[in-house]
Amino acid sequence: MAAKDENGHGWAYNWRETNQNALDSSQGAFFVVFTYAFMDIVVIGAGMAGLHTAWACARRGANVTVIESARGPLQAASYGSGGYIGPDGVRPLVRPLSFAERTWLRCSAAKPTMPLRYSVAERSKHPQFVKRYVDNCTPERARYCQDALTALVQYNARMLDKLVLELDVEDFRTQRVLHLFGPNESLTKTRREQLQHGNVKWLDHRQCRALEPGFTEHAPISGGYHHPLDQTINATYVARQIAGVCQQNGVQFLYGTAVKELIVNDGVVRAVTSEAGLHAADVVVLCHAGGVTETLTTAGIKLQVPMTPLTSCSVSADMGEAPLRVRNGLQDESNSVFISVLDDRLRAVGSPFIGSLSNKELESEYRRIYTVATTLLGNAAQWNQAKYWSHTVWAMPDSLPLVGAVPGARGLYVSAAHGMTGAACTCAAANIIADQIEGKVPAIDLCGAFACDRFAK
Ligand SMILES: Cc1cc2nc3c(=O)[nH]c(=O)nc-3n(C[C@H](O)[C@H](O)[C@H](O)COP(=O)(O)OP(=O)(O)OC[C@H]3O[C@@H](n4cnc5c(N)ncnc54)[C@H](O)[C@@H]3O)c2cc1C
Repeated sequence: MAAKDENGHGWAYNWRETNQNALDSSQGAFFVVFTYAFMDIVVIGAGMAGLHTAWACARRGANVTVIESARGPLQAASYGSGGYIGPDGVRPLVRPLSFAERTWLRCSAAKPTMPLRYSVAERSKHPQFVKRYVDNCTPERARYCQDALTALVQYNARMLDKLVLELDVEDFRTQRVLHLFGPNESLTKTRREQLQHGNVKWLDHRQCRALEPGFTEHAPISGGYHHPLDQTINATYVARQIAGVCQQNGVQFLYGTAVKELIVNDGVVRAVTSEAGLHAADVVVLCHAGGVTETLTTAGIKLQVPMTPLTSCSVSADMGEAPLRVRNGLQDESNSVFISVLDDRLRAVGSPFIGSLSNKELESEYRRIYTVATTLLGNAAQWNQAKYWSHTVWAMPDSLPLVGAVPGARGLYVSAAHGMTGAACTCAAANIIADQIEGKVPAIDLCGAFACDRFAK
C-alpha cells in the first residue's frame, strides 16, 4: 500500500483511493440503502456533530431520532464557531515543541503564542491530560497527528462541498485565509525561510494589503502567506440549515430532553433512557461532546484518558455599512487570533485554554482579542458594539477527535472530542460513521487514529 502524498505525508493515498468509491456510490439526491431500511438510530446531541450524523444516516434511509438536552439545536460549542475549515492549514493543538518548551509547558503556559494555554490554577486539575498532551508534542507524534487530522479535514472539505451542492445550502464561504506575521523581524525571517521549503508562497506586506482591503493603515503586518485551498464558512448557519433538511425528511427531534443512561446487553446496544422514557434503538451515536464519557460509564464502558474541557473566547462585530468589506479569513500568528467573515459579521477567536477561566482571565483574553481585531481591522466593523462569547469544547490529549465504532458494544458509535476543529471535521466524521453502520469500509482508512480506545493500548 503506497503511503505518501506529494507533500510526503502518510495518509492521503489511502484516503484518495477509498474516498473515490464513497463519492461514486453516493452520487445523486436522497437515496435508501438496504441496510438502513427499518433501522432505528438515536443520535445524542444536536450540535454540529449530531446534525451532520443525523443527516448522513437519514439520507441513507434510517429512522433517526435526535435527543438534545437544550431547547433547540446548536446551543453549545457549535453556537459560535469561527468556521475555519482548512483544508490545508488546519493544525492540531499538538505541535513539535523543543525539550525546553515541553518542560515549560508542564509548568504553565499562559503565553498567547502557545497552541494550548493554561493557568497555574488549572494545572493541577488535569494532570493526566497535560502529561499526555506534552508527550504528544514530539516531532514524531505531532507529525502523526497532523497527517491524520489533515486527511480527515481534506475529506471533510470534499463532503461539505457535496452537501452544500446537494442541499443548495448557503454557506457564506470565504475563499482565502491569510496567515499574517507581525513586525517581529526574527520570527518573520524564520517563517520566510521555512516557507521557501514548502508549497506556499511568501507574500510581503504590500501583497497582503492588496489581497485584503479591510486592513487599517497602521496594521502591523510584515508579510504572510495563504494555503491554496483554505477557506472559512459560516459553519453554524450550515448546520442550522441541515437541521431544517433533517426535519423535512422525517428526522424526529426531542429538545429539552437529557439522555441519562445507555443500555447495552450482551455486547449489543439496545436503548437509551431520558426524562421522556425509554428510546429503543438498533444504533446509538454519541455526539454530545463532554457528556460522552458519563454516558459510556452508565453502560460500564470506560474511556482511557477522558476528554478534557478547553475554553475558547471570541469577540464578534457587525460589518454594517463599513466601506471596505473584509474578504479573507485572517490568522494572526504573532498573537494567535483567528478572524473569520460570517456573512455580515466578523468573529475573532483566541487559541484555547485547558480547563476554565476566571472572570478576570476571561476579561483579559477578551481585551487581547479585541485589541488584535481592532488593530488589524478597526474600520471594517462596529467594534464598539462587539459581542463577547466563550464556550467549552472537549478534546483528547492528542487533539484528534473520537470517531467511529465503540469497541465492545455493537451498534454504538461516537463523534466527539472535536476540540477546535469541529467545523473542519464533523461532516467527515458523520460520513465515516454512516459507512461503518452500513458495513462499508469507511472512506478514509484512518479509524485507528480516532479510535475511542487508542490510549488504552
Ligand atoms: C469560540 C470558538 C471558535 C471556534 N472556531 C472554530 C473554527 O474556526 N473551526 C472549527 O473547525 N472549529 C471551531 N470551533 C470548535 C467547534 O465549534 C466545535 O468543535 C464544535 O462545535 C463541536 O460540536 P459538537 O457537536 O461536538 O459539540 P456541541 O456543539 O457542544 O454539541 C453537543 C450537544 O450535546 C448536547 N448534550 C450534552 N449532554 C447531553 C445529554 N446528556 N443528552 C442530550 N444532549 C446532550 C449539548 O446540549 C449540545 O447541544 C470553535 C469553538 C469555539 C468555542
